[in-house]
Parts: sequence; structure tokens; C-alpha cells
Amino acid sequence: MVNLLDLDAASLTAFFAIHGEKPFRARQVLRWMHRFGQADFEAMTDIARSLREKLKGLATVAPPTVVADRLADDGTRKFLFDVGGGNAIEAVFIPEDDRGTLCISTQAGCALDCSFCSTGKQGFNRNLTAAEIIGQLWQARHALGAYPPAANPVERVVSNVVLMGMGEPLANLENTVMALHLMLDDNAYGLSRRRVTVSTSGLVPAMDRLRDECPVALAVSLHAPNDRLRDELVPINRKYPLRELMPACLRYLEKAPRDFVTFEYVMLDAINDSEAHAQELLALTRGVPCKFNLIPFNPFPGSPYRRSPAPRIRRFAELLMSAGVVTTTRKTRGDDIDAACGQLAGQVLDRTQRTTRRSFVLHQNRHEVCG
Ligand code: SAH
Ligand code: SF4
Repeated sequence: MVNLLDLDAASLTAFFAIHGEKPFRARQVLRWMHRFGQADFEAMTDIARSLREKLKGLATVAPPTVVADRLADDGTRKFLFDVGGGNAIEAVFIPEDDRGTLCISTQAGCALDCSFCSTGKQGFNRNLTAAEIIGQLWQARHALGAYPPAANPVERVVSNVVLMGMGEPLANLENTVMALHLMLDDNAYGLSRRRVTVSTSGLVPAMDRLRDECPVALAVSLHAPNDRLRDELVPINRKYPLRELMPACLRYLEKAPRDFVTFEYVMLDAINDSEAHAQELLALTRGVPCKFNLIPFNPFPGSPYRRSPAPRIRRFAELLMSAGVVTTTRKTRGDDIDAACGQLAGQVLDRTQRTTRRSFVLHQNRHEVCG
């Protein structure tokens, strides 16, 4: 059985062709699934009964199962998905006045082991399938009432998507690109490239591939202004150091839908937050059209770091801004539902008992607005 949520328009058309069906039939099914949120072939009423029967024998429409759905006082809503094998992933919806942003995951765990990230500490379990990536949007839209018939007035409930949840999107490039195609497709979610952001820790070859295959807005997790410190915080820097990362950002901008890269910078007390660091950061990024997004560190049990005090974060932002670089500091959202950006892990505590024990332990942390 093929899960049709795994297929973008081109792949779905190819699948239909193999089974002797015309491209417009694939388009119809694509619309049913993604524009109308329909998983039941029987309900796809303008499709010939014979084709519906055929599809039932060949395929499913199977998004990941929502196992928890929590709403914070400020409207932030967190969805926890069971993706089998004791793995859980999360998506977080952040409503704001002018947009609704869904932050989604691309891997269960992450292999890159950044020293300040609890997902990294959890280790790598597996890549999410395209169906599991796009399925987070599919399920969130259902939960938010964004599919017809209720949909029309609130069709843009989810107006932006950021791939800033669990995992490194560019380490799961193929499935991520498949899901991105669906987000952008007018027969599916029809989001503009500017409203879809991939966040990467800096996998240089994959940044080039993303630029060529599906350029969307790019955020790069910089976190340090020199290799010595970045090697420690973001170990993938040892493979792709700053002298390779910065030119890769410039190459990306040749095709990017926005004319800047967003540099994310986690604020770690006495580690990377001094005035000298800010000056070094400005020197490093000179010549790269960019904005900065400062992320106050979210502590988690066992982490060796502390969040920079608010006045130091303000001072750091001022220094960057006085040099003319637009700088934002992430707001804290969803305090009462214990979610945190970069820590969007429904973590299974005891992995040795993964088949018998499926208690999802959520971090005692807070959610930061993504993007
Ligand atoms: N793997 C990708 C995207 C997921 S992480 C990446 O690293 O960019 C999304 C963002 O959250 C990244 O900028 C990441 O560095 C940041 N992050 C991770 N752990 C964090 C923590 N404990 N506190 C604050 N931000 C964190
Ligand atoms: Fe992976 Fe991103 Fe966490 Fe680093 S910050 S361990 S790349 S999820």
C-alpha cells in the first residue's frame, strides 16, 4: 500500500500513470487530500467509482496520529504525534495578529548533537517520511478548523510554516523537499515561498541542493561568531566551518525568495553573549544580507548552560541594530503548555523499553515564537 501523503504532484502523477490513470485524476486526488483534508477515497465524489475502488486496493491516506493536543492561554497550540516505535514528534501552532505559524519537525531526534539542544541530546532515531512531515500540517489544519466546509473564512489559519521543530531538515532533504513541494503547490496548500522557512545548522552541500530544488526562506543557526566556539556548540561546524558556511549563504541568496538570510543565535549566559561576540558577529556577517533572531536559551534538565540575562540580550540586540542589522528577540509563548523551540520533542524516557512503555515526557519549558 502506498501512502499518498508521501507524494508531491509529480510523484502522484507518476503513480497514477503506472496504474493507467490520467494526470488530471492525480490532480483531483491531490486537491481532495490537501485542499479539502479528505482521507477517505469514498468521499472523493467527483472521481469515478471504479477509480475509487482501485485506489482503495492500492493506497492509503495516512497522516501521523495525534496523541496530544494542548492549548495555551495565549492561543499557542501544541500537537504531539506518535510516529511508531516509541517515537513522538511535535508541531506547534503560534497565532499572531497578522499570521498563524506552524512549527513542524522533520526527524525523530537529531544526529547533530548541538550542545544546547535537547533534541540533539536525545540522539537520532529516524528521518520522518514526507507523509509524516506534511501530515503535521494536515492534522493541524484539521484541528484548527482550516479545512472546508468551515474553511473559507479562515483558510489562512496556517499562513506560515517553519521547519524549526525536531530534527535537521537538510539531513532529511529528499522527504523535506517532497513536503515543501506540497506546501507550495496551488492544488495543495498554496503557501508562498516567502512564508515557508527552513532552519538549518549549516549543512553546506544540502543548502546548495535546497537552493536548486526548492528555494524557500532560509534561517541558519549560527550561534557563535567564530569556529572555535561554534565547533563546540554546533559540532557540524567541524565539517562545514564558517569559511564555507558564509559563502553558502550568499549562494543561497541568489535564488532565495527573500533577499536576506535569518541568522538564529541562541543566547547563552557568559558563553556567546558579550559585546566582543556581537562585534565579531558583525564582522563575520558583513557582506551577507541578513537579519538576526536572538533566541533566549531554553534550559532543560542536565543542560550545562543558563539563559543570558534580559539586559544582556537587549544590549546584544542594540549593538547589532546600531550597526544597521535588523534584529529580533524571540518572545516567550505558550508558557502553560511546556513546549520549547528547538526542543520540540515528545521524548520517550526509557528507550530500552520502547515497546512496552510509551509515556511521552514533555519538557518543563516554554515555547519561543518561531520564525
Ligand atoms: N535543526 C535545525 C532546526 C531545528 S532547531 C537547526 O538547528 O536550525 C530550531 C532552532 O532552535 C535552532 O536555531 C536551534 O539552534 C534552536 N534551539 C535548539 N535548542 C535550543 C534551546 N535549548 N534553547 C533555544 N533555542 C534552541
Ligand atoms: Fe539538531 Fe538543530 Fe538541535 Fe542541532 S539545534 S541538535 S541541528 S535539532
